[in-house]
Amino acid sequence: MLQNKKLFLFDIDGTIAVGDTLYEGSADLLAYIEQIGGKAYFITNNSTKSGADYVAKFTEKFQLKTTEDLFITSGYMTIQFLKENFMGKKIFVLGTKSFIAELKKNNLTVTEQPETDIDCILVGYDSELTYEKLTKTCQVLSTTDAPFYATNPDLCCPIDFGFIPDCGAICEMLTSSTGKKPVYLGKPSKKVCDVCMELSGFSSDETLVVGDRLYTDIACGINAGVETCVVYTGEATPEEVAVSPYKPNYTFDTIKDLYHALITG
Ligand SMILES: [Mg+2]
Repeated sequence: MLQNKKLFLFDIDGTIAVGDTLYEGSADLLAYIEQIGGKAYFITNNSTKSGADYVAKFTEKFQLKTTEDLFITSGYMTIQFLKENFMGKKIFVLGTKSFIAELKKNNLTVTEQPETDIDCILVGYDSELTYEKLTKTCQVLSTTDAPFYATNPDLCCPIDFGFIPDCGAICEMLTSSTGKKPVYLGKPSKKVCDVCMELSGFSSDETLVVGDRLYTDIACGINAGVETCVVYTGEATPEEVAVSPYKPNYTFDTIKDLYHALITG
């Protein structure tokens, strides 16, 4: 039940905020969580921003005080995974310059060239994508058996006029051409929830995932065996929930409605 929840894992875009605007009720809900001795993490598949970028954005745009460790991004999940499994190995990367710099900063060995001794292939959201990069990635996928990973399966990313292709859409192009499918490291991997439970010490019964996208946010909670809550301020609609295999435990129109349900019991 909702009143037992202490650990709240929030998606950001479409859930607690849109762009630079914090939704009404988000600040109250975060204050409530602090008051009951709980903890809130922000789990986002947006790998273009670091924890430090988010702390700055939350302070400047939302007037919310946070710390870097509260942001578990798909970029963070990817780096942890690669450090555990591919340290000292050669990683072929399709991604932005800043993403590649972040991987190098973590002492990982990366290349953007289709060399013959590639140990794994990694694809991230790439706003600097070119046909040349796609061709090189297809070459590595077609000529090696190296495992194929990607940061996040989101097909589209919200922008002021609508949507643009995200990492999942780039991977669909690669899969259509090579037949190879990636393993995604961000949501809906259960590891995202596991990391937050480990860091905070709260149990799965005490945890709630709150999001607006069924195949990433809600699926992530279901995969980890924790309860989930959808809000209808982003992508998902009641019609979509009715036919989706990813059914949330709780549904609210807005984050403010979730807050009211929590305080009124
Ligand atoms: Mg979202």
